[in-house]
Amino acid sequence: MWRTELTGNSSGRMRLTVLGGFLGSGKTTWLRHQLHHGLFEDAFVVVNEAAETPVDDALLAKSAQLAVLAGGCACCDGKADLVALLRKICDDRSRTDSRGSRLERIVLETSGLADPGPIAEAIRDDPVLVHHIVVGEIVATVDALHALSQLRGEPLGRRQIETADRLIVTKVDEADETELTRLLATLRRLNPGAAISGAIRGSQAPLPPFEGVEPESLSDLANAADRPPIFPAKLVIDETIDWTAFSVWLSALLHARGDDVLRVKGVVRTSAGRLLVQSVRRIVQSPEILPEQTSGPEREDGVIAVIGRGYREEDLRRSLRYFAGAGRT
Ligand SMILES: [Zn+2]
Repeated sequence: MWRTELTGNSSGRMRLTVLGGFLGSGKTTWLRHQLHHGLFEDAFVVVNEAAETPVDDALLAKSAQLAVLAGGCACCDGKADLVALLRKICDDRSRTDSRGSRLERIVLETSGLADPGPIAEAIRDDPVLVHHIVVGEIVATVDALHALSQLRGEPLGRRQIETADRLIVTKVDEADETELTRLLATLRRLNPGAAISGAIRGSQAPLPPFEGVEPESLSDLANAADRPPIFPAKLVIDETIDWTAFSVWLSALLHARGDDVLRVKGVVRTSAGRLLVQSVRRIVQSPEILPEQTSGPEREDGVIAVIGRGYREEDLRRSLRYFAGAGRT
């Protein structure tokens, strides 16, 4: 057995699907929909959040086997944790082998800050994992509304597109058609080999033809490397928060700093129940009420992650306290 693996026979190795895409591009929505329709149902799902608050595990309850990697991005500071988790999955799989059912597939939902390249490298370079896991496909979700501006300014956004085998353009029903076709032509230029499809809330959706459309001319991003790094800040929100005041604060923050605040996400307890609050750039999504039950010890209500750059975590806390009287430090 060891021999066949050494000769590079990939049969017997698990296939890993890496699901990436920029912050707020709809990775979880897409994955949740696939799970709901029985795709990946035999897969072990690993969810990685760069912020310390994994909220997606509640949304992904449809998967039979799931693990959450929280507190570090799997392509950089969380890489060792990812390798340890994958080794454990391989270990457990060898033990269940004798009973007949064999895990064939792993899906890794990366954080929106992850570069899939180093993740694939970490698996290839690990002496254990390389014999048990093959990176089968890199999928990236692409936000029809925000991707062009991300591609202009974010080197990471470009790398995510360039390394993908499959690009799923999300929110296509909300995009202006001229903008959408320009995005599609730009994606095609950045990654001529990738399959491109459209999605609306996870379901496959048709894309307009874009042959002959002029792609966005993207400047080189030499200066972008000097910008402050993107980091996750964590705000603790207790149940006494004035919800209206919180909404006002969030709108004001996004209005003033929408280019720096890339993503806001978290679960807040209110009198209406547990609310999932999210924004992408300046767009606040309408809050979604989550089921009461919690899915694991990793769950943390009352914490909002604000991911962005160019401000200090304590300034966010101070302004939230000022507006809403909440946000303990
Ligand atoms: Zn990373």
